[in-house]
Amino acid sequence: IELINQIAAGEVIDRPSSVVKELVENSLDAGARRIEVDIEQGGSRLIRVRDDGGGIGEEDLLLAVAAHATSKIASFDDLEHVASMGFRGEALASIASVSRFRLTSRLQGQERAHQLEVDGGKLQPVRPAQHPVGSSVEIRDLFYNVPARRKFMRAERTEFAHIDDLLKSLALARRGVEFRLSHNGKPVRLLRAADTLDQGLLRVAEVLGPEFPARSLRIDHAAAGMQLSGWVGLPTASRSMADSQYFYVNGRLVRDKIIAHAVRQAYADVLFHGRHPAFVLYLELDPAGVDVNVHPAKHEVRFREQRLVHDFLFRSLHEALAETRA
Ligand code: ADP
Ligand code: MG
Repeated sequence: IELINQIAAGEVIDRPSSVVKELVENSLDAGARRIEVDIEQGGSRLIRVRDDGGGIGEEDLLLAVAAHATSKIASFDDLEHVASMGFRGEALASIASVSRFRLTSRLQGQERAHQLEVDGGKLQPVRPAQHPVGSSVEIRDLFYNVPARRKFMRAERTEFAHIDDLLKSLALARRGVEFRLSHNGKPVRLLRAADTLDQGLLRVAEVLGPEFPARSLRIDHAAAGMQLSGWVGLPTASRSMADSQYFYVNGRLVRDKIIAHAVRQAYADVLFHGRHPAFVLYLELDPAGVDVNVHPAKHEVRFREQRLVHDFLFRSLHEALAETRA
């Protein structure tokens, strides 16, 4: 079983940032309003994610780290309508098999917190602990028992940069949640919860750079049961924003050929050629019309009606961009 978990870990967990991704998504699934991420040595020494979500009860702690146990789907049918971020029930088990793992949690409405430790896959008995309502997951010495994997970790700065990028992409997806990030005890990022659109743009500015809001265009368009909102960058002399492309489908960051093509076409048609514009875009559509279950890393999607989605994106952007030229 341990070996199976470690193999599964290799697929989904390939570096510290993928651990952070799984943990933060769990916090979001648990309804957290504040999420704190503390990193030491690029995550190779410590990754700690603390949230104020609903927490886990004493009886469910063991279940949380059991392979293929998830509290998020009750039947196979549910897979079609997954609203939560994680749904495979294997992340914690995988992570715990390749690290020194500690989960402390207090369930909403309970007086006491409990803690569970797993050392390279070996479970320690659950014991009482101190913790406010919510959960903390601590991962120490990631891959300490998988030397081949540990060897592949890059410099501390590189791994931390991946974590920071990941957190930025999650923070743009969930503007109503406060995120804090620290590295080696130093606060690096504080993203306060944004309730209004204006505050949302503030967060976008924090992530994409202070120059982005002034050089961007608000998108808000609905048709054919789909909605596209967000901001797209206008042409600029600086190329610094070239990599700042965020596209969310039902709240999930996605990289997809159909989407990329539609965006590129709309820009090329109206404004300029051969550039890579910055954008933060949110596409909402019926979950039945999109399959997010293509790959465990979950960056891919498959649309049922590719043509329809493509044309909707193209038209929404084209229309908005064309107005700026008029
Ligand atoms: P999944 O997210 O796919 O269900 P995970 O291995 O990531 O699988 O988590 C297993 C289970 O542990 C979750 O289904 C959830 O019930 C519980 N869990 C994990 N992290 C948290 C958290 N931060 N707050 C509350 N429950 C959590
Ligand atoms: Mg999960």
